[in-house]
Amino acid sequence: MTVKPLLKVENLKKYFPVKSGLLGKTTGYVKAVDDVSFHVNEGETLGIVGESGCGKSTTGRMLMRLLEPTEGTVEFDGKNLTTLTPQEMRKTRRDIQMVFQDPYASLNPRHTIEKILEEPLVVHGIDNAKERKKKVREFLEIVGLSAYHAKRYPHQFSGGQRQRIGIARALMTNPKLIIADEPVSALDVSIQSQVLNLMQDLQQEFNLTYIFIAHDLGVVRHISDRVGVMYLGKMVEIADSEQLYAKPMHPYTQALLSAVPVPDPAHKKEQIMLEGDIPNPANPPTGCTFHTRCPFKMDVCEKVVPQLVQHESGHSVACHLYDEVSNNDIKQKQMEGSF
Ligand code: SF4
Repeated sequence: MTVKPLLKVENLKKYFPVKSGLLGKTTGYVKAVDDVSFHVNEGETLGIVGESGCGKSTTGRMLMRLLEPTEGTVEFDGKNLTTLTPQEMRKTRRDIQMVFQDPYASLNPRHTIEKILEEPLVVHGIDNAKERKKKVREFLEIVGLSAYHAKRYPHQFSGGQRQRIGIARALMTNPKLIIADEPVSALDVSIQSQVLNLMQDLQQEFNLTYIFIAHDLGVVRHISDRVGVMYLGKMVEIADSEQLYAKPMHPYTQALLSAVPVPDPAHKKEQIMLEGDIPNPANPPTGCTFHTRCPFKMDVCEKVVPQLVQHESGHSVACHLYDEVSNNDIKQKQMEGSF
């Protein structure tokens, strides 16, 4: 089977101006997303992980042009989205939908579930009123709710049920890509796995491609085919899921992974405690922006920005630890646990 990218993101940037003084003069920029490139193949799930403020949600919003990129290109299904007119972009949003973290905030509390689910169809001029109502009931059942729920209001549902409604709304237009921004972070752990399982089932049934944004590597582990790790606006590592969890290369990924609980304590690695907080993105550290917290920092790290380089097939990392060493050395050191 040939795998083809559905989405290709190149050199994406989002710089927010910092204004000060009475005249609101621009005195600098917050580089929320700084030169990020990745692709997502048709039918796969790409997890994007990082602490809050790393730029993952800003990236997700730029893909739909809910935020305009400062620079870079987003190619979706062969179309460069960054050059589309607002009208063309509105049409394309039928194929790209979002699921948000807080389903309650994203569902209009004054509307019935029927009206909420019908809305994307009305906006895109899909089906007549009778067909729309039928489809609403069908999709409520597909996401594990009941047709009679259509007449209820969002406050009459639990958090998990509301997220099912958010997922149903995203599915209504028969999209190709769903960007799920922390879709289970606000839910209890027991409900999280139900919603994740539902998303996996729907992916199979509707041949969906997912971008799954989360702050925790544990959450995306089972749902992602590949995972990208972001830190302070940059992609610092991206790899096949199996490779990333078995042999994380970037010290930041290693630290995030060491904090993920494992079912078998015999396989638990010592937790790597990172010093300090994420630096101010308006005034990021020089060179590698992780150098203020990195246990492996070298002199070069403060001076030179590491580039995201592919070291093994499909496994790229931005870190000077790998500048000088050969792939064999990396494998050896990973086996010894020194990376
Ligand atoms: Fe640490 Fe240097 Fe690698 Fe940055 S480039 S992660 S500071 S070793």
